[in-house]
Amino acid sequence: MSVFGRESSRAEDRFEAWLKRMHQERVLAGETEPVGPCPDEAFLGGVARRSKKIPLSDPRIDHAATCPNCMNRILAMRQSIRSERRKLAFGLAAACLVVIVGLVAWIRYEVRHRQTLVAAARISRTVDLWNKGTYRGEQPEQLQSVVLPPALVRLTIILPRFSSPGQYLVAVTRDQSGNGVVAEGFASAGVRNGQETLSVDLDLRSAVAGAYFLSTTHEQDQAAYYYPLQIKDRASK
Ligand SMILES: [Zn+2]
Repeated sequence: MSVFGRESSRAEDRFEAWLKRMHQERVLAGETEPVGPCPDEAFLGGVARRSKKIPLSDPRIDHAATCPNCMNRILAMRQSIRSERRKLAFGLAAACLVVIVGLVAWIRYEVRHRQTLVAAARISRTVDLWNKGTYRGEQPEQLQSVVLPPALVRLTIILPRFSSPGQYLVAVTRDQSGNGVVAEGFASAGVRNGQETLSVDLDLRSAVAGAYFLSTTHEQDQAAYYYPLQIKDRASK
């Protein structure tokens, strides 16, 4: 680094490169007088690799710096060293890429595998409300057999006769006013076997066994319908 700062040091680098080039051209043109015999390949290789084991006072350096044959050998060796380094860097970059691609593939596999496990752990249940009253204000008759396990439940609901199609909010609540929501999910109702049917995932894993309500609320209607529901305890799963 020069005392004149970055700019002048860059100018110095350019000047040195120019001197080196001029010198090389003179040597390669045979305008210099080399002293002594040509050193062996190993020594020239050391110079090409800029080995620190070779002292600048070594007379063979003076020879190599003025001999067109040695200069040619050194330039050729430097070229191949540079291309080898480039190949190595390329190889390293390719290896990094392989590792990254492998990692991404592994993470994607893990995520998918976990999703599959979750899907497999999901328990399917169907609730048939087809014959339950849907008239506003009318109490639905007691549901006989809606008992759900404290698990991930894929709940398919056959909606009461005359139900509207569209989006529904399905919830499991503690009371009939919609308080104490244990689990909820949105689902689209569609006609299946002539009946409005929807399927929703409910996570009841942390639910304590007991009496609850299953509610369905149509997105536009906003009136919630509540049906009694039992969640059984873990032991009887
Ligand atoms: Zn020589």
